[in-house]
Amino acid sequence: MSRILIIEDEIAIADLERDYLELSDFEVEVEHDGTAGLELALNEEWDLIVLDLMLPGTDGFEICQSVRSVKNVPIIMVSARKEDIDKVRGLGLGADDYITKPFSPSELVARVKAHLARYERLTGPAATAVPNKVLTIRGLRIDKDAHRVWVHGEEKSLTTKEFELLTFLAENPNHVFTKEELFRQIWNMDSIGDIATVTVHIKKIREKIEADKNNPQYIETIWGVGYRFKM
Ligand code: CA
Repeated sequence: MSRILIIEDEIAIADLERDYLELSDFEVEVEHDGTAGLELALNEEWDLIVLDLMLPGTDGFEICQSVRSVKNVPIIMVSARKEDIDKVRGLGLGADDYITKPFSPSELVARVKAHLARYERLTGPAATAVPNKVLTIRGLRIDKDAHRVWVHGEEKSLTTKEFELLTFLAENPNHVFTKEELFRQIWNMDSIGDIATVTVHIKKIREKIEADKNNPQYIETIWGVGYRFKM
């Protein structure tokens, strides 16, 4: 049974989320305080976290960042304000999905299921039954099935979106993509963010995989056009 942590200070919303998720056979734990929520997120094993943005104690921005720096668990970010969601996207904190309040509980359940299925496909036992699909380019190794990246043997921790962006570019080398094309490709579901998100993610990827991020060996900037993965 998948374990889901809800960090949400509005008790009515937290209860609604819990009820619907429990009806779908998930094991659910609720924490109303941000600081206690962060502690619980870090100290126990979760299959997914539903994280509210505005919380007493530690806010959702900080929780997302702290959890993401040590765990790959899917995070669905919830906020009453679309501007906050845009801000989270722009910061590239590594949430996997975003929902704006008010939302229908069945929408939340659908997204939870989709992320769990995707995450299990990538990490579950089924993935090891067949050889993983691996891309290797000049010291960069991308394991598409395990969602893992190594540079000259050293593993790098990428968020889901960073991984998808890097993999997409690496699978289409020598092709220049505009930021708009990349944004549509990677954030296709609900394109409410803006193309600055792409810039932020490219910067983060470079910080992680490039020896000298000012002289990138993998993802080149084509000024005035976009980005290209060097073959
Ligand atoms: Ca709140």
